[in-house]
Amino acid sequence: MPLELNENQRMIKQTFRKFMEKEVEPHVEKMEAGEETAFPFIKKMIDELDLMSMYATTASAEVDEDRLQLFLWPTLIVEMARVSPSFAFGFGVSIGLFAGNIMRRGTPEQIEHYGMPALKGDLIGAWALTEPGAGSDALGGMKTRAVKDGDHYVLNGSKTFITNAPCAEAFLVYAKYKLDDGRDSVQAFIVDRGCPGLTTGQPFKKMGVRGSPTGEVFMDDCRVPLANILGGGVKERDHVKKSLAGERSGIPAICLGIIDRCFEVAVKYAKERQQFGQPIANYQLMQARLARMYTALMNVENIVFKEFLAGRRLNQPVADICAGKLYCGEMATFVANEAVMILGGYGYMEEYVVERMARDAKIMEIGAGTTEMQILTLARDVLERD
Ligand SMILES: Cc1cc2nc3c(=O)[nH]c(=O)nc-3n(C[C@H](O)[C@H](O)[C@H](O)COP(=O)(O)OP(=O)(O)OC[C@H]3O[C@@H](n4cnc5c(N)ncnc54)[C@H](O)[C@@H]3O)c2cc1C
Repeated sequence: MPLELNENQRMIKQTFRKFMEKEVEPHVEKMEAGEETAFPFIKKMIDELDLMSMYATTASAEVDEDRLQLFLWPTLIVEMARVSPSFAFGFGVSIGLFAGNIMRRGTPEQIEHYGMPALKGDLIGAWALTEPGAGSDALGGMKTRAVKDGDHYVLNGSKTFITNAPCAEAFLVYAKYKLDDGRDSVQAFIVDRGCPGLTTGQPFKKMGVRGSPTGEVFMDDCRVPLANILGGGVKERDHVKKSLAGERSGIPAICLGIIDRCFEVAVKYAKERQQFGQPIANYQLMQARLARMYTALMNVENIVFKEFLAGRRLNQPVADICAGKLYCGEMATFVANEAVMILGGYGYMEEYVVERMARDAKIMEIGAGTTEMQILTLARDVLERD
């Protein structure tokens, strides 16, 4: 059974769905071609749906009776991804990772100058950890360095595969930094696009999420004011791991959007498409595909909403976050490919949404840590338990 919704929850879901279908869906083709970006529509969504009050309620400690505020964010992300996983990606990075990290860890000035404008959709943010030589081993292999020089830090290095990099106005850049006792620490720095020494590359051409621009960031003696170190002071590495957990735990909701849309399209098509004188839905081989897709839908929905509704999305054990990212990523790819098979030749055509979803789904197994990294981290966490 799909998640049972009360009246309030149904209404909210409908509002999000209507906005995405009416305002965003007609622009998806242009976004995918790189002719438009998601950001004007993200701004419109924040204003028209009053997401700022939603953010304020979600951030408050009180939990209302029907846990409405805990239901809002995953539902919003799912509804975005049903229409455009690229849109959800751009939103997730600018609002979730860039603004989210600043709102949780920033100084009052950083919150005012970067966190709030990004939350309101007035500033586009990027989150820059990965480097050309440091992907899965992002912290160990990191070459970007920050050196203190008077009232500035001087950053040198480069980042790659950075979502929003071609259009971002500010970047949360992770760099190695020497602590007073000589040990290396990894710190996050808020770097403005206009910062001398910072440049970005052209958007990459890629397999999927083509509506989400991805690119490189180069720092060549990039001078960042002391005030722009996240949180205002040098910290131990722990906060980087927490940011990674945040990144990983957001992926299942995007996966659910992909799975939900692909299942819906596949069921409708299977009932309508006639071959050998009857709907293909009558054939057990088609039913077997639909049954497995539905099973994935139920499990992924359970993973997404169970954690949110329990109010412990970011406080789950590491193994649970990895398990969610691992399973939901694999299921998004599986379900989208099954949908392509059910639609046959039409499924392979660009005109049908499942073709795009099948290409988009693959990044769910790579971004925010590959499947292999989820497995290794999960196993380590479980085996270290008493
Ligand atoms: C579209 C897109 C958007 C992205 N957005 C961002 C972003 O906004 N910010 C950001 O910082 N990064 C971003 N990334 C980067 C992403 O997080 C990395 O691509 C990912 O972590 C993998 O790193 P890598 O590509 O260098 O692969 P590698 O680490 O080189 O891995 C290559 C292969 O080796 C495997 N492997 C590596 N180590 C091991 C091991 N110890 N044991 C077994 N197998 C192993 C991997 O699982 C993988 O299959 C994005 C990537 C893409 C494609």
